[in-house]
Amino acid sequence: MPGAAAAESREERNGPSEEESPCAGCGRRTRESRCAHCGAALWAGAFKVRRVLGQSPYSRTYLARGADAEDVVLKELLFTLVPDIQQIEAFEREARLIQGLSHPSIPKLLAFFQEGTGVHLRLYRASEFVPGASLLERIKLDRFSEKQARGFARQVLQILSYLICATTSPESCSPSPAEPKPIRRLPGPKVARTEFPMPSAS
Ligand SMILES: [Zn+2]
Repeated sequence: MPGAAAAESREERNGPSEEESPCAGCGRRTRESRCAHCGAALWAGAFKVRRVLGQSPYSRTYLARGADAEDVVLKELLFTLVPDIQQIEAFEREARLIQGLSHPSIPKLLAFFQEGTGVHLRLYRASEFVPGASLLERIKLDRFSEKQARGFARQVLQILSYLICATTSPESCSPSPAEPKPIRRLPGPKVARTEFPMPSAS
């Protein structure tokens, strides 16, 4: 992820756009970088929001497109109270930790940044987009054989084992070179860890 390009595009996005764009959250058209009706971002940093993938009282997750035309998952952290410096430092510390992970079943953290100040502050993490249904969605749709269920469980445990190792003794930890690229759903039943919790927003 080109940090310089992100910064440049962010500068270019300051202020209203000349053209109206539809909000990915409610469909209303606006020239602003954030919809005044539903609060969804139209732009964040260098990323143009394409779709709202999910939201909670404290966060939104977007499908967004970066300066290199690649799709990313953009996680936006919202605050009920203005965050203090410790919360912001915790966000940056966790983002750097995730950025240091290297596992073929964990999408790469491409960028993290913040926008706005005070009550308008938003924190963002942009990660590699892995197409496909989540494991939870698959479980609702498909009936797995015992062999498939064991295979999923083994993959999940391998990822969790790597995460524990990477956060406790990173110098002695490396993913198996035989692991496939990150996949949430492909013809072969492979899984990927695609979600990391954001720091507390309350
Ligand atoms: Zn909206």
